[in-house]
Amino acid sequence: MAAHIIDGKAVAQNIRTSLKAEVALLKENHNIHPGLAVIQVGEDPASKVYVRNKRRACEEVGVASFAHDLPATTSEAQLLELIQSLNQDDAVHGILVQLPLPKGIEEKKVLDLISPNKDADGFHPYNMGRLVIGSPTFQPCTPWGVMELLHHSGVQLAGKKAVVVGRSNIVGKPVAFMLLAAHATVTICHSRTPDLAEVIGQADIVIAAVGKAKMVKGEWLKEGAVVIDVGINRLEDGTLCGDVDFASALTRASAITPVPGGVGPMTIAMLLKNTVEGAKRRHHLIP
Ligand code: NDP
Repeated sequence: MAAHIIDGKAVAQNIRTSLKAEVALLKENHNIHPGLAVIQVGEDPASKVYVRNKRRACEEVGVASFAHDLPATTSEAQLLELIQSLNQDDAVHGILVQLPLPKGIEEKKVLDLISPNKDADGFHPYNMGRLVIGSPTFQPCTPWGVMELLHHSGVQLAGKKAVVVGRSNIVGKPVAFMLLAAHATVTICHSRTPDLAEVIGQADIVIAAVGKAKMVKGEWLKEGAVVIDVGINRLEDGTLCGDVDFASALTRASAITPVPGGVGPMTIAMLLKNTVEGAKRRHHLIP
């Protein structure tokens, strides 16, 4: 039987709709106006699309979006100064720096300066540490989106075997800790993992975050596995595909996310959720 296709677009829309209602109530009942500062440095075309989508999504749910479009010639010192001023700005509850940054600006230095209390992307070492000890505040958006998709699809995680392929700081590692917190038994694979097919074959849940088109084959999967494909790869013909060979996986998995339309739309929805929660935390409405 063909797998159930997990509709990330629909789940993300649901999240945005409930955030919109929540934001309206925050304004009406508490005079709290959540705000997200989105910083873009330079003219990278892909970044421009991402930033535009993020700003549109803010508008849709009623989150104020503060645009900071800086020229590619911006110095590291100037960017750090801007972040420091946004850290102090009471109208800003989330700060996002669109990556990649131009050469000459040290990414880590910039991300580490963002206040952990305004860390909309959830990449700050403080928030990453809280995630690891099971006390999350701002959570990295893509992994959080993966967990929401599993939750919305009614996937039981406790006691299940989960295999994460990829160990990056922005996807693989954080999603592994989130699965662990949900009581799955987690294996993290990477480029040095031998017998990847065999490891994947034992998994009830497979999270693919590699960045290699169609690398995970359907025949590697255990019958009935749930597959979440984080990968976004552009093929020569211009179309997008994931890290999982969707056509062959469809016949083995019980549920699978498509690319596009799976994890992708969730990332922005969770970014907005982080911003709204940041505003609520700032005003002591949540711990
Ligand atoms: P990285 O390149 O940072 O990490 C890739 C990981 O895959 C590394 O840990 C690497 O191992 C591992 N890997 C590479 N080759 C193999 C292999 N042959 N077998 C097993 N593991 C391998 O990527 P990201 O985590 O940033 O992104 C992963 C994918 O997710 C990309 O396609 C990216 O575009 C997409 N993405 C999608 C998002 C969304 O919103 N949907 C957001 C973020 C990312 P090692 O550590 O040993 O090098």
